[in-house]
Amino acid sequence: MLTRRRLLRSAAAAVSLVSVASVRLESAKAADAQLLSVDDPAAKAVKYVEDATKAKRDPADSTCANCGLYQGKTGDKTGPCQLFPKKNVVAAGWCSSWAPQM
Ligand code: SF4
Repeated sequence: MLTRRRLLRSAAAAVSLVSVASVRLESAKAADAQLLSVDDPAAKAVKYVEDATKAKRDPADSTCANCGLYQGKTGDKTGPCQLFPKKNVVAAGWCSSWAPQM
């Protein structure tokens, strides 16, 4: 027989499982994003490079990792960029659209 307590426990467990599944799906989506190619026309248009030290930058220490459009986590080697939807950029990279963080 299904008691009220048992029903509430089942409902709470179901909500927890859905939450965990949602978090895993979002993580998988971020991890599945393709790395932006330097040969992509959109990347070329803003002179994107995967190694910022090979670009004439202003400011000199600017990289994707400290750009206001970068959405990766601190310490990650790659991450999403608002300029290139559904693509990841290299944290050590750079492009001419670099913007300071607010
Ligand atoms: Fe990197 Fe910023 Fe250019 Fe995106 S906009 S590629 S994060 S420098």
